[in-house]
Amino acid sequence: MALMTGEQYIESMRKLNLQVYMFGKKIDNVVDDPILRPSLNSVRMTYDLAQMPEYEDLMTATSSLTGEKINRFTHIHQSTQDLINKVRMQRLLGQKTAACFQRCVGMDASNAVFSTTYEIDQKYGTHYHENFKKFLTRVQQNDFTVDGAMTDPKGDRGKAPHAQDDPDLYLHVVERRPDGVVVRGAKAHQTGFINSHEVIVMPTIAMREADKDYAISFCCPTDAEGIFMIVGRQSCDTRKLEGAPMDTGNPEFGGTEALVIFDNVFIPNDQIFLNGEVEFAGMMVERFAGYHRQSYGGCKVGVGDVLIGAAALAADYNGCAKASHIKDKIIEMQHLNETLFGCGIACSALGKPTKSGNYLIDLLLANVCKQNVTRFPYEIVRLAEDIAGGLVVTAPSEIDLRDPKIGPYVDKYLKGVSSVSTENRLKVLRLIENLCLGTAAVGYRTESMHGAGSPQAQRIMISRQGNLEMKKELAKKIAHIEE
Ligand code: SF4
Ligand code: FE
Repeated sequence: MALMTGEQYIESMRKLNLQVYMFGKKIDNVVDDPILRPSLNSVRMTYDLAQMPEYEDLMTATSSLTGEKINRFTHIHQSTQDLINKVRMQRLLGQKTAACFQRCVGMDASNAVFSTTYEIDQKYGTHYHENFKKFLTRVQQNDFTVDGAMTDPKGDRGKAPHAQDDPDLYLHVVERRPDGVVVRGAKAHQTGFINSHEVIVMPTIAMREADKDYAISFCCPTDAEGIFMIVGRQSCDTRKLEGAPMDTGNPEFGGTEALVIFDNVFIPNDQIFLNGEVEFAGMMVERFAGYHRQSYGGCKVGVGDVLIGAAALAADYNGCAKASHIKDKIIEMQHLNETLFGCGIACSALGKPTKSGNYLIDLLLANVCKQNVTRFPYEIVRLAEDIAGGLVVTAPSEIDLRDPKIGPYVDKYLKGVSSVSTENRLKVLRLIENLCLGTAAVGYRTESMHGAGSPQAQRIMISRQGNLEMKKELAKKIAHIEE
């Protein structure tokens, strides 16, 4: 089965024995939980679209490992065109879900681990690359969703992993056995872990010799013994329990993050991709972060398309679409959004093959892409709120609108142009609320800041990759400076 249908994906998730906690309780039926289900629907879209002939080029690829047709989310990029198609696919998914569809993390981890394991093996004669190819072949053949887990809780940011007062604040090896290792620690902000079959765990920072036990990368099933998840709260999350779907703004789709605990998890030798070769921890981090910073030039742009459309609809419904300042604000939103897309495409077009043969994005441009993502969605959100008006945060609930006694008043006094129902006007305002400050603000606004690394992480990479010395030489030559 090279490609699963959306329905098969949902049923496959039902079979997992995930340990999920939320509001202090263990969730027995993760798949049908009303708070969690929208995030599963977003991942499902990566399966549904792959079944549709019109999206075949973007959503599927030919496996470099088996020659079979696979979902692009499990693909190892073979060309700059593959890198470009990845970003276009992510924009499409953002447009269809207006949420984080989660499956990119595993794709980005796979491509980073593929090339890094090749280079570790070259230096040390290890077998990590073979381990990884075996894992990925299984992922491709079963069309699994894979999470990529990088971010450790990190405790005191001024101390290295081994120097923390609590040694578990970075995930590490606590026992070495002939047949594998036992790991303990946690991974924070885990997008999509709950909706994944497997996880690729990677270190979170570059490391030195003293951090040897922390330089560990591996894969395992998300329901492996010793793993459990604590779901993160989102603004307005319990609205999904109120029986008023309109108030959620996006009744069908969403995202989920969780704190994932690895409580003495056994990892067999053939699932290990890095084990103590400290100098390669930095390479794995840099490549994964680079790929995921490229990803934001696709997914956030797709969600931005929905927000821009919603703002333009709100202007129509308010009767102010023809005002010149409104038109100009919508142009500005589009300009910002397409600039992000331009960066995502540019870092893909200038990608290069790694030693292992897969394609890596241009790291400087990928970091510039993500740096812009830490800013532009905030301005797009500001403009959307400006255009939508204060009703975004003051409108009564759907339950009031449906109430036989007060509903008619809500309907009468919150009407905009007479050709549009109050209900539709409120729906679009709720969608804007959802994207700017509700559950999807995790996936659009604040994730734009911190997802794939906070802004300073990109600035460090820009300073490393920017080749300032070359630029000084250019200036000297033009000014005829001789030293
Ligand atoms: Fe994919 Fe974007 Fe979500 Fe990352 S934030 S997993 S790139 S949708
Ligand atoms: Fe993300």
